[in-house]
Amino acid sequence: MTATWRNWARTEKSRPVLEVAPRTVEQVVLAVQRARETGHAVKPIGASHSFTAIGATDGVRLSMEGLRGLVDVDLERGRVTLWAGTHLWELPSILDPLGLALENMGDIDRQTISGATSTGTHGTGLGLGGLSTRIVGATLVAGTGEIIDIDEDQGAELLPAVALGLGALGVLLTVTIQCVPSFLLHAVEAPAPYEEVLENYVELNRAADHFEFYWFPHTESTRTKTNTRLPIESGANPLGKVSRFVDEEVVNNAMLAAVVGFERFVPSTTPSINRAIESISSSRDYCDVSHRVFVTNRRVRFREMEYALPFETVPTALRELRDLIERKDYRISFPVEVRAAAADDLLLSTAHGRESGYIAVHRYSRDPDHEYFREAEAVLKAHDGRPHWGKMHTRDAESLRQTYPKFDEFLAIRNRLDPDRVFANPYLDRVLGA
Ligand SMILES: Cc1cc2nc3c(=O)[nH]c(=O)nc-3n(C[C@H](O)[C@H](O)[C@H](O)COP(=O)(O)OP(=O)(O)OC[C@H]3O[C@@H](n4cnc5c(N)ncnc54)[C@H](O)[C@@H]3O)c2cc1C
Repeated sequence: MTATWRNWARTEKSRPVLEVAPRTVEQVVLAVQRARETGHAVKPIGASHSFTAIGATDGVRLSMEGLRGLVDVDLERGRVTLWAGTHLWELPSILDPLGLALENMGDIDRQTISGATSTGTHGTGLGLGGLSTRIVGATLVAGTGEIIDIDEDQGAELLPAVALGLGALGVLLTVTIQCVPSFLLHAVEAPAPYEEVLENYVELNRAADHFEFYWFPHTESTRTKTNTRLPIESGANPLGKVSRFVDEEVVNNAMLAAVVGFERFVPSTTPSINRAIESISSSRDYCDVSHRVFVTNRRVRFREMEYALPFETVPTALRELRDLIERKDYRISFPVEVRAAAADDLLLSTAHGRESGYIAVHRYSRDPDHEYFREAEAVLKAHDGRPHWGKMHTRDAESLRQTYPKFDEFLAIRNRLDPDRVFANPYLDRVLGA
């Protein structure tokens, strides 16, 4: 009997018929071939940090835990090839000694490299693309059982699909990442008035290497985070252990856990508690190695929906979101997070063909109310928003085709690499079609 699979947010579960943890390429090929012959689906899984059922299966669950670490280095070009199951938190120990780093990161490092790239994981920085835009090569086992090597010289036409493939095209065995020389980030975190941030939103993003802000609903204030890239030789000025602990563990995790638990039972207190939290979050100014600045610990479980909008429409959409929260009298204890990314040309990238602003809304994981997400989704969709592939949304293939000009090109590649839909599951049936 196999164990029930659950994702991190505990929003999805499934019971696979078989669990396989391959340790070699041959074992992956065999698992795909056997599943195909017996009419079962195969679902490679990373760290299960997607909020959707993108990783769910009642077929064969392929854990990639046994395929981790460094495969190859091309120091001249600053590239590393990694086994697909490598977690982002394992990268510093691989990349630091090589003098390399990821160009950009999201706010956690628990994901695997292949899960993160397959769903279009991104950080912030209007001049920088998401993780998938840095994938310059991959080896995958297609639905036919064939091993396919892809890079700029072979199978190059597949790369814009495979680098962000939703787990629909094959089992990634390795990925090759274009890195950058190790660098420091000078981080400035400070409160700023909500309206002022919205009015200067375009300039704030254009002026910074990385800009993002959090807005606690029911307050007039935001917490902004501006990171500037500096050469590694500039000298770090890291946060003290105590300061880091107080801000990240006490304020972000322990206190948030207590507060959202309390607010669940006494929702009328949410606005005043949000104002109190926002006022005790201190300003911070420090400089550290990039991954230590990008990444924070998130231990309070939540649900998340995130949409990518045409960059310049973000202030309007945020004002509409605020109107919605006030009109409907929703009590929202988690902040709204706002980030940005450069345009890219990956077929199903949320930033395909346009500079993008990201708006993420959250709810406590045990809060079953979906109305806020549904109504917020209508606001974000109306601005030609595109949902993050690993976060909650209700869109289907017909609706997504309208916003992705290369949608059918992706489906043609899917037909070629997985003609029998070995990698299908109900989520992919919904967002891509059967
Ligand atoms: C607390 C938290 C914070 C987050 N922060 C951010 C953020 O800052 N920015 C952001 O963009 N996203 C963020 N996310 C979303 C997260 O990055 C994505 O959902 C990502 O996919 C999770 O990686 P994973 O390894 O857990 O993948 P999983 O959820 O395990 O899998 C995701 C998909 O990848 C496929 N996959 C996994 N391995 C392979 C493989 N070897 N070959 C082919 N397909 C494969 C799976 O089949 C599935 O379709 C966050 C999520 C959480 C829970």
